[in-house]
Amino acid sequence: MTGKNREQDTAGEGRRAETGKKRPACPAFGKCGGCQLLSLPYGRQLEKKQQEANSLLGGFCRVNKIVGMKEPFHYRNKVHAVFGYRQGKIISGVYREGSHEIIPVESCLIEDRKADEIIGTVRELARSFKIRTYDEDTGYGLLRHVLVKRGFATGEIMVVLVTASPVFPSRNNFVKALRDRHPEITTVIQNQNDRSTSMVLGDKEKVLYGKGYIEDELCGYRFRISGRSFYQVNPVQTERLYRKAIELADLSGRETVIDAYCGTGTIGIIASAKAGRVIGVELNADAVRDARVNARRNGVGNIQFYQNDAGSFLTQMAEQGEKADVVFMDPPRSGSTEEFIRTVAEMNPRRVVYISCSLETLARDLAVFERYGYRAAEADPYDMFPQTGHVECVVLMSRIKD
Ligand code: SAH
Repeated sequence: MTGKNREQDTAGEGRRAETGKKRPACPAFGKCGGCQLLSLPYGRQLEKKQQEANSLLGGFCRVNKIVGMKEPFHYRNKVHAVFGYRQGKIISGVYREGSHEIIPVESCLIEDRKADEIIGTVRELARSFKIRTYDEDTGYGLLRHVLVKRGFATGEIMVVLVTASPVFPSRNNFVKALRDRHPEITTVIQNQNDRSTSMVLGDKEKVLYGKGYIEDELCGYRFRISGRSFYQVNPVQTERLYRKAIELADLSGRETVIDAYCGTGTIGIIASAKAGRVIGVELNADAVRDARVNARRNGVGNIQFYQNDAGSFLTQMAEQGEKADVVFMDPPRSGSTEEFIRTVAEMNPRRVVYISCSLETLARDLAVFERYGYRAAEADPYDMFPQTGHVECVVLMSRIKD
């Protein structure tokens, strides 16, 4: 899409909002910053994302048709709410974009309904148990955030209560009351975060009920997810995306495969049946622990996980003369690094499959890959985050000189 078209498109959205003709059915629209595209019909949202992918990636390779969702609402199986106090009432919701003002949210069009109900119950119970919410300015109060994660295939539900101090009066009764209201909750965790930071979770955790983690299924494998490890928020689209990524890798069963930025090991474990061996690298220690358990849990013996920065780890591997046949990479929104890309090129894989949740950093990194001898062959966008402006995309790259 050209710059001009983009302006026209945005103006169109603005007009709609001004005339109030098609006001989105969400009181937080325009304040929470989450669903920028809510005022557009879903078909138009997909067109817009397709155009964005074409314009940012079209110069590198063919961009296939974006894969949308049949039910583009209530898909988020991980829901976070910040707690606060306003005019005599406990509120919970999201920070106004770019600030620390809380916009109350009682139900959200993209969040899991059950998760929203549970958060509503926590608000009620906090009031009846006289638990004070944390005040960022004064540092007083206990309850800061609630995080709910739900296993899409298993139905297991984790509730994480983030508190400013370890002392939680009537903790056991609180958890019991919460479970009475929602028997489907399978685990409750207290996470302690006493720092003044915008990070939701602190380092200390105490399991108040259940196993301390949930499990979910993806592409026929079972995965453990703990409070602090990353898990894709939209399981329906994630499954499709992973299948595509593994298809693009075109594995024969003999390859050495790297799964970089591997989180709880999902992609590597799913790919392992078609690979000789898999090496996963991930920075977050909890995620690596989950990944190791996940490999064992699924009877996967040809995979190893390392906790490290992906760039430094690959540099060490390359220094030891190790090679790789296929590299999967799934970095955070900020993208990868030149160090990582340069070292991937040194390891000389036949194919690189790049999964990205930001078209901008993806395009930036594809340009770096080109400099190091890797050319994109195709891009497949997936609508992982309907109603929001984000686009997820998988890109296949191969060696220019073969
Ligand atoms: N592939 C996984 C996770 C993708 S999210 C999945 O699909 O579930 C990106 C992951 O990169 C997160 O787990 C994050 O902890 C990790 N990460 C962020 N910076 C990193 C770095 N410098 N080196 C290695 N991993 C990193």
